[in-house]
Formats: sequence, structure tokens, C-alpha cells
Amino acid sequence: MMKYNFRCEDIGMSCGYEIRGASTEEELLEELKIHAKMSHNLNSIPPDVLEKIKRNIKKGGKYSFSCADVGMKCGFEIINADSEEELLNELAIHAKLSHNMTTIPQDTLNAIKSKIKVM
Ligand SMILES: [Zn+2]
Ligand SMILES: [Zn+2]
Repeated sequence: MMKYNFRCEDIGMSCGYEIRGASTEEELLEELKIHAKMSHNLNSIPPDVLEKIKRNIKKGGKYSFSCADVGMKCGFEIINADSEEELLNELAIHAKLSHNMTTIPQDTLNAIKSKIKVM
């Protein structure tokens, strides 16, 4: 699932504000309008600032998973992989070496996917 992140810092604002994990660009911009009004006294975001904001929206997010979420007590966790694909590739190695699974069964894989956290 794609996530949208934005930090005011990236457009030269020092307020420290950031949005992480918005589901769509529209959602992020709606939230940002409230912040702009409350913290930057902007009743509307000027078009040039809006363009700057859009160029600095980061898509993607970080993917995390811990075996504990699917009832495994091995203590293994992956924090902040850059994509679900990266996370699943790393997890395949862990499954092989620590859980003696040469392939992850489809139902386990589905359980894993439903527990992956995107930030
Ligand atoms: Zn701000
Ligand atoms: Zn494990």
C-alpha cells in the first residue's frame, strides 16, 4: 500500500511538522491545509507553495514486521524496509534459516502480509 509523507522542513519551514502515512495525496493536502492555517497563518496555500509541497511529498513509506505478530517466538523483526518486496525477500531468508521453511506457505504469507506495518 502506497503511503504519502511530507515534512515542512523540506520546503524550508522550521516548525518541525510532518505527516506520515497518509493514504492519498488528497488526504495529505487536506491535513496540510489545516496545519497551514493553524501554524503558518495561511488561510489558503498559495499556488507556488502548493507546487513546492507537491514536489516534496515522499511516496512509499517504511515497512516493518515482527515474527511475534504471527505467533512466532523467535524475536525476529524487520524495521523500516524500503518496500514490501524487500521485506518479504529478507523474511524468506529468515524463514529458511530460522524456521526451516524452504518456501513460506501461502496462508502464512497472507498472515504475514496482513501484519506488515507501513509507516
Ligand atoms: Zn509547518
Ligand atoms: Zn521468525
